[in-house]
Amino acid sequence: MFIPMTVSRGTLATPFPISKRLSNNTMANDTTFSVGGREFVLDNSKAEQAFAEKKVINGRESVFFNLLPLKYAWAYELYRTMKANHWEPEDIPMQKDIEQWQSQDELSDVERWIIRMGIGYFSAAEGIVGDNILHVIREKVTAPELKLVLGRHAQEENIHADSLLYMISSLGINPHECEAMFEDIPTITRKNEFVMKVSRSLRRDLDLTDPENQKLFAKNVFLFGQCMEGTQFYGLFGMILALYRQNKFPGIGQMFRYTLRDESNHIELLRQLLMALKDENPHIWTDEFKNELRELMREAIVLEKGFIADCLPTNAVGLSQGEFNQYIDYIADRRLEGCGLQALNPGVDNPFPWLAEMMDIKKEQNFFEGRVTEYQKSSALAAVDDDEL
Ligand code: FE
Ligand code: MN
Repeated sequence: MFIPMTVSRGTLATPFPISKRLSNNTMANDTTFSVGGREFVLDNSKAEQAFAEKKVINGRESVFFNLLPLKYAWAYELYRTMKANHWEPEDIPMQKDIEQWQSQDELSDVERWIIRMGIGYFSAAEGIVGDNILHVIREKVTAPELKLVLGRHAQEENIHADSLLYMISSLGINPHECEAMFEDIPTITRKNEFVMKVSRSLRRDLDLTDPENQKLFAKNVFLFGQCMEGTQFYGLFGMILALYRQNKFPGIGQMFRYTLRDESNHIELLRQLLMALKDENPHIWTDEFKNELRELMREAIVLEKGFIADCLPTNAVGLSQGEFNQYIDYIADRRLEGCGLQALNPGVDNPFPWLAEMMDIKKEQNFFEGRVTEYQKSSALAAVDDDEL
């Protein structure tokens, strides 16, 4: 799904690929890089040194954004993909959502409750993620291209937070009610405490040459990327998009589709970051530590299932609590496997194959006519198959 970057020289291989020098059209001491369709000529020895000094952590600290030579090409590719996906909440019409919200007979209590929970939970969760990206992860990494893509990540969390404000104002929901949900609903407070406990301890100067602190940092990257954004966001994503498939809240559903597409890039970004971190610091990646990460995911799943029970207290409006729980088990295992960790529930099927297709949004799609019809056929069949098994 990533837009391939034009990379011709010296951006992918490690160590610095000096042998790929273009000696025909440059000076003998120069290396030419082509990044995003642009060509750059770098002094060979300087480029080599800059490349060697680039590290996920404990690399050269610099106020200069010396992106070249790129060491983490995946980070720059992701940055380009993310920027190509740019959207703003005001692009999305809310008229139909407002009509439905205000009507007396079009919606059930369960449907209203899911929307309130969605707006309430994500209003604060997006902020927590963005804050951790800026004040923990982006602070600690040293390579400029990693800082670049993390800055974009934080900005996308701003857009998500702004989209929730747009939903609140469109529907006329009292903002204090949303804040209160964050404090009063125990399954929400537990989810927040779970992520904050690996965030608070990192908001100070830490000696990141100490393997114990490296593990703390790795845990933070894993927990925010794979457990929170990668798993605990998906209960409500699934519910809101299931309503969207029933033509309920088309504007809100559309915003969540864009958000989900962004989140998939955030999950991939933090996964790649964790993999690069462990490749550069292989001593942290012990069986014991891998098990600690799996246990974090196990805890995340328990918390998410409790939250799902609060969002969807009974099977209603065609949504089944059991299927959402199964989906969480399924998606959590994909996250674990993505990081080279063993699945917790191997063999669990995806009850919502349509959800992945919800992310497949064409940039040029007309918002007013933005109907998705392709996925409905296959997902209806797949859902029947899953139920029968
Ligand atoms: Fe987000
Ligand atoms: Mn995110």
